Amino acid sequence: MKIKSADFVMSNSDVTKCPKEPLPEYAFIGRSNVGKSSLINMLTERKSLAKTSGRPGKTQLINHFKINENWFLVDLPGYGYARVSKKDKNTFQKYITNYFLQREQLVCSFVLVDIRHDPQPIDMEFMQWMGENGVPFAIIFTKADKLKPKAIERQVNLYLNKLTTDMWEEAPPHFITSSSHRSGRDELLAFIDDINDK
Ligand code: GDP
Repeated sequence: MKIKSADFVMSNSDVTKCPKEPLPEYAFIGRSNVGKSSLINMLTERKSLAKTSGRPGKTQLINHFKINENWFLVDLPGYGYARVSKKDKNTFQKYITNYFLQREQLVCSFVLVDIRHDPQPIDMEFMQWMGENGVPFAIIFTKADKLKPKAIERQVNLYLNKLTTDMWEEAPPHFITSSSHRSGRDELLAFIDDINDK
C-alpha cells in the first residue's frame, strides 16, 4: 500500500462522537513508550503525525487519522501509566473499553509490545480481555533493531507459546517491526490492504 494521504481528523474520549463514516478502522494500542508514535509515523511516512495528537492533553484520547481517504488509523492512549491516579485510570479504561466493545467500524486492533521484554502481566491481561470479548487483534513487536535474529525468535516464541498455552489454541497474527530500520512496514500495510480488499 502506498500512503497517499494521512490526515488528522479528531480526538475525543467518547466513542459515540467518533467519525460517522463507515470506513474500516485499525487501532493501535500498547504500553506508553512502546514505540507507538514512532511506528505510526513510520507507517504513514509522516515525521510527526502521531506526535500531533501527542501534545499534552491529547495523549489520553482516541485519535482518528484518515489514510488514503479509505481507512482510519486510530491511535489509542498508552496503557499502564504509573502516574495516572486511580480515578483517572478507571475513566481511561472505561472509554477505551467502550471503544473496543462498541465501535462497529473497528476491524482489527494492533497490540504493541517491546520485543526486548518478556511477556508482562499487563499486556497478557489486556490480550486476554480482547480474546474474551471477541475483539480481533494482532501483535506488533516493536524495536526489533535492538535484538539479534536469534533473540528476536526467542522473544516471539515466548509470547506465542504463552498465548497458546495459557489462552487459546491458535496465536493471533504477529508482526516484527523496527521504526528505526523501517522494517515490518510492508507486511503490516499488506495485512491491512488484504482486509480492506475483502
Ligand atoms: P510511544 O510512547 O509508545 O508513542 O513511544 P515513542 O514512539 O515515543 O517511542 C518511545 C521511545 O522508544 C523513544 O525514545 C523512541 O526513539 C524509541 N523507539 C521507538 N521505536 C523504536 C525502534 O523501532 N527502535 C529503537 N531502537 N527505538 C525506538
